[in-house]
Amino acid sequence: MHYRSREVVQVRSAYDCDVLVIGGGIVGLSTAYAVTRAAPGTRVTVLEKEQGPARHQTGRNSGVIHSGVYYRPGSLKARYAVRGAAEMIKFCAEYDIPHAVTGKLIVATEKAELPRLHALVQRGRENGIPVRELGPAQIAEAEPEVRGLAAIHVGTTGVCDYVAVARQLAEASGADIRYGADVVRIDRRPDLGAAVRTADGTIVRGRVLVNCAGLHCDETARLTGDDPGMRIVPFRGEYFTLARPELVRGLVYPVPDPAGSHFERRIRSFQPRRSRVTTGQGEALQRLWPKWGLDIDGQRTLDLAELFGADLPVVLEIGFGMGEATAQMAAEDQETGILAVDVHTPGQGNLLGLAERSGLNNIRVANGDAIILLREMLPPASLNGLRVYFPDPWPKKRHHKRRLIQPEFLDLAATRLKPGALVHCATDWEPYAEQMLEVLSAHRDFENTLPDGGFAPRPEFRPLTRFEGQGLDKGHVVNDLLFRRVQHRDQHAPDA
Ligand SMILES: Cc1cc2nc3c(=O)[nH]c(=O)nc-3n(C[C@H](O)[C@H](O)[C@H](O)COP(=O)(O)OP(=O)(O)OC[C@H]3O[C@@H](n4cnc5c(N)ncnc54)[C@H](O)[C@@H]3O)c2cc1C
Repeated sequence: MHYRSREVVQVRSAYDCDVLVIGGGIVGLSTAYAVTRAAPGTRVTVLEKEQGPARHQTGRNSGVIHSGVYYRPGSLKARYAVRGAAEMIKFCAEYDIPHAVTGKLIVATEKAELPRLHALVQRGRENGIPVRELGPAQIAEAEPEVRGLAAIHVGTTGVCDYVAVARQLAEASGADIRYGADVVRIDRRPDLGAAVRTADGTIVRGRVLVNCAGLHCDETARLTGDDPGMRIVPFRGEYFTLARPELVRGLVYPVPDPAGSHFERRIRSFQPRRSRVTTGQGEALQRLWPKWGLDIDGQRTLDLAELFGADLPVVLEIGFGMGEATAQMAAEDQETGILAVDVHTPGQGNLLGLAERSGLNNIRVANGDAIILLREMLPPASLNGLRVYFPDPWPKKRHHKRRLIQPEFLDLAATRLKPGALVHCATDWEPYAEQMLEVLSAHRDFENTLPDGGFAPRPEFRPLTRFEGQGLDKGHVVNDLLFRRVQHRDQHAPDA
């Protein structure tokens, strides 16, 4: 960056820095590094809300240096990944950061996967990546504990310590990096750059603002007054640690599924595991998922009669925890199908196991985003009920918009519920209960089943779980809400 005229120099001095970066993860820190390398002398400030770098995704990821083998040749992603992998390895070597180019094996275990595996060979080679094809004997040679019909070995994939990378980027950038600086306000003026305020009241002015706030970048964009047209929806994932790491030499992957959803599950099928998913849950997942599991891929409309193998009224339950209440309710009313959705893998395994042990055939377990399930996969007026028990309360004020029960969610749910369908919510977080009551009462498509309005007593059919019992013992207040989907005279019945 060069400042030629006095005028520009004067304007520059009004700023605390030239480039102001929000976020001290790898994207923010590498931005700072790249800017100071490309234009020495540029004053860069990075504001990071945590007390150190890489405390979020960057410090909690799998540490893989991806080769770019999956990306369409010539695409920006492919070029970035291939060049980025090489640069990352060079960076690690230059600064003595722990890393290893292990290569990775992509293994096909079923015939149906072979065409996709071969397409990857082609793709990898077009991207200039060294790819070798392996038969069963060569797989065993490369990874003695892995079995497969065929595999490919991708030579440039590696692993590294991304926390060390982030620290090094911070240091080598020469930027002014301020930790504990949580950006809470942004004032952006055309031609005048941006002024941001942090939670402790400090104002920092920059000529250019770069939003690298990771999973908060949508919120940060909104602080500038922009509508990013998207919302980041957090999911909880489960990760497994090999009890015997010596079982694998490098990285082992399945052939990617176009829907993307079986990827993890298949990997689990040949990884011994300990930790949060118990053996019983893992075994139930592996055995029962093909029968009773559903991956939410947004790709098809479900036929609920086909899914349940019978024409049952179906209730959608969003978020079932460990599934005890779900299994109990399914046992007590076997004439109703429960489509139970969650992203919590141990809970999914637990519920599948409970269903099998109780001889229940009226539970289906869906993995993924309930909104996509509702919007993309469920036909209009297909549900006889909706249950939301103890949803994430998102207690911090600025996260309230992430709460599930919002007017927009009710708009969508109303289209999928049959007239008369019951919406049953319960929460032990009182401010959320108040919010639910407010938005449900205000929505024209729902009416409170209690003639006088307000919260309902816990209905008999919702069992008291151990978790809830413990909460009640501690003095928590649990509020139930029972609303009904109403059909207005001016509304046509949704197309079934
Ligand atoms: C489970 C998992 C595994 C992954 N595995 C790999 C892998 O093996 N290889 C790979 O290449 N990629 C992997 N990724 C992806 C990779 O980790 C991310 O793409 C990358 O870390 C994103 O970096 P970031 O800087 O955008 O985000 P983050 O690392 O999340 O950094 C964003 C930063 O912004 C800060 N911030 C947010 N809001 C504010 C605010 N208002 N004020 C100040 N600071 C703020 C946060 O505190 C945070 O430090 C994985 C991701 C996940 C979640």
